[in-house]
Amino acid sequence: MALLEVEDLTVNFYTQDGTVNAVDNLTYSIERGEKFGVVGESGAGKSVTALSLMRLIDSPGHIESGEIRFKGQDILSMSEDEVRSIRGNEIAMIFQDAQTALNPVYSVGEQIAEAMRHHLDYSKSEAKEETIDLLAKVGIPEARKRYSDYPHEFSGGMQQRAIIAMALSCDPDLLICDEPTTALDVTIEAKILEEIESLAEEFDTAIQLITHDLGVIAEICDRVMVMYGGKPVEKAPVEELFYDPKHPYTVGLMSSIPRIGDSTDRLQTIPGKMPDLVELPPGCSFHPRCPYAEEACTLSEPELLDTKTGKPASEVGTNHSAACLAYSGDLTGELDYSVTVNEDSKSNAPASQITGDNQ
Ligand code: SF4
Repeated sequence: MALLEVEDLTVNFYTQDGTVNAVDNLTYSIERGEKFGVVGESGAGKSVTALSLMRLIDSPGHIESGEIRFKGQDILSMSEDEVRSIRGNEIAMIFQDAQTALNPVYSVGEQIAEAMRHHLDYSKSEAKEETIDLLAKVGIPEARKRYSDYPHEFSGGMQQRAIIAMALSCDPDLLICDEPTTALDVTIEAKILEEIESLAEEFDTAIQLITHDLGVIAEICDRVMVMYGGKPVEKAPVEELFYDPKHPYTVGLMSSIPRIGDSTDRLQTIPGKMPDLVELPPGCSFHPRCPYAEEACTLSEPELLDTKTGKPASEVGTNHSAACLAYSGDLTGELDYSVTVNEDSKSNAPASQITGDNQ
């Protein structure tokens, strides 16, 4: 049994403009200790998925259907008390904006210690000592002295480290990181990502890492799911995704990663923007932006298919699937791009170059 199993999850938001189908029939799982990446542009449904796991979807949002099983138990059918005991304890979350996640009227140390006392039944002094230990582990200098500092006395990077400490304070089995480094500059970003990764190893914590940045996925994750318009469009082990991407949207995302040594003047971008989720384009919702779109793509919606056999991913248990008519044999043309792998690359960052119609 996987640690987390999400099955056919559908989440809608009822707005004045109509029903926003933010997440549509989403299925995925995360194993214990696994680092699972979720990538896509804004509006792909990544954050709504994460909030659903914690059952934090508020009105006008509504979880319409599906199951979210954590250690085999369906979170959606639990009582509010049962969910509260899991939230922050067995499943913790690191948000993008540390400032709003910290309460300005309590010291940083007290806030972390309070979470420990609540979930782990520590005495006041035990919680304080554990908190100081944890602050030191996430790289806060002079942790004992800084325990009593208020959030405004911490820099942005330190606030984010404090949030990581708070998330790890109850030794969760699953850590959801929603764009954890977007608000930080790149040098601090690299350090924070390294820390999240090594702490997750040390605590044997599974990670669901949500980002719009494929480079961040490459640094940390084992497997990745690419989302578009509330649906997964590609799922693969991380190396396969970088060296052999199968969905035109993934190829587009990869073409827009800046690379050292690339002599082109401009970064490639995906033309157009994420469609309005109230009124998705018919057929494949990526078709207005896809360089390989044909008429068939406007008529039928592709499901996730095993990229080798073209069989439905739900039936054959593949580890690499993509939702594109190219794999069901319904395209007359071909996905005309190629990926060149830079074997000399010493880093974990994507080393592949895309050539073809996506350029
Ligand atoms: S189904 Fe058609 S439009 Fe959609 S990704 Fe494949 S080729 Fe592009």
